[in-house]
Amino acid sequence: MAHTIQGSPTQSPGRLALHGLSVEGVNQCVHCGLCLASCPTFAELGTEMDSPRGRIFLIKSLAEERIALTDSVASHLSLCLDCRACETVCPAGVPYGRLIEAAKAEMERVRPGSPLRRLFRWLNFGLLLGHPRILALAAAGLRLYQASGLQFLVRSSGIVRILPGTLPAWEALLPPLPPRAERAPLPPRIAAEGARRARVAVLTGCVQAVVFGAHNRSTARVLAKNGCEVVVPEGQGCCGALNAHGGDHARALDLARRTIDAFETVRADAVIVNTSGCGAHMKAYGHLLAADPAYAERATRFAASVRDLAEFLAGEPLRGPLSPVPITVTYHDPCHVVHGQKIRNEPRRLLAQIPGLKVVELTESDWCCGSAGIYNLTQPEMATRLLHRKVSHILATGAGAVVTANPGCILQIQAGLAAHRSGVRVLHLVELLDRAYGAQ
Ligand code: SF4
Ligand code: SF4
Repeated sequence: MAHTIQGSPTQSPGRLALHGLSVEGVNQCVHCGLCLASCPTFAELGTEMDSPRGRIFLIKSLAEERIALTDSVASHLSLCLDCRACETVCPAGVPYGRLIEAAKAEMERVRPGSPLRRLFRWLNFGLLLGHPRILALAAAGLRLYQASGLQFLVRSSGIVRILPGTLPAWEALLPPLPPRAERAPLPPRIAAEGARRARVAVLTGCVQAVVFGAHNRSTARVLAKNGCEVVVPEGQGCCGALNAHGGDHARALDLARRTIDAFETVRADAVIVNTSGCGAHMKAYGHLLAADPAYAERATRFAASVRDLAEFLAGEPLRGPLSPVPITVTYHDPCHVVHGQKIRNEPRRLLAQIPGLKVVELTESDWCCGSAGIYNLTQPEMATRLLHRKVSHILATGAGAVVTANPGCILQIQAGLAAHRSGVRVLHLVELLDRAYGAQ
């Protein structure tokens, strides 16, 4: 798939592509530098090639085959969080997220790494994310590992440090797996309460379903309280966001097709997503599948129906009665909500409707916490720097809890607060809303 753009000097007139992946928009950059101050990696390192403008220059040079994908080029591109903060401030409308995802896919094609790395990627991107039943089995195994005390033994004995590759980092970031009841699938239909507002289909996700099943249940309850009949399409699984983010382009396409197939089996006014990375990715299905004649039109239609949970709920005042939640919270904007979907005010408008809740603003609330898909595993040093920056801002607010809307951010910030021995809790926005509706 080659895309037409203006002014590429070395290829056929007006065409520029990175081995079939779209880099449409790369020439829109006018090098103004307005994005530099918003880029977390540039803020930390101060080097042009770790800024959006520098990376765009690298991607353009790669696409025009003027430079090779050397170790140095790869490291500057790999260090990008794909947080898309640069997109938000760019006056020229450079679609940076698409460019970096194309570049990361190209890096995986050219530099797939050692057999162990490839096996590890296949286990995660191919086997676990692609097969919900295998993921559920793995979750049950991990729950046993944690609940039996084996995890404690592995950590306290130091065995974890002799595991190969990035396994020690993965082990350290393993979230606590909830009991089986919380990992159970949602029922296929939940009835609306009160006057009917809409019929909505909910994405239950892959990692979300096994780690944060409670958030999915809260989502269904809060939607029902707000007059929505909730349907949960069978056969849904991973939307492919993690694959796309990690350069696994072919499987990302496959998972997008499967998601569309699953959701087309139900009739709904909107598809509701409570995880930011998934929502931003599903809204881009039209672009992702533009070259697939069997899916292009369906993908565009599907993408137009996707709504972030906060975006949807904030469309009308919350229905009462709402009980007081007398705590002070601050709000961390997940990158793929605030930058990927341009949703900034809606979560705050929802929080403002909870009686008794005090909300204090967070400095750099829309800066990445370092989670960024699997970035905290692949780039642990930069991820840790950004996490410390985030946690110090959270602690400075004096809030008792930080609210956000993405599983990756929740796990990352929880780990950062725990490292600071802080008692500040991390809550999903929907947990707080659910609590205002009386959930324990
Ligand atoms: S703000 Fe946009 S146009 Fe300006 S340098 Fe950054 S990406 Fe290029
Ligand atoms: S996506 Fe984020 S880390 Fe990457 S260049 Fe843009 S602002 Fe910087």
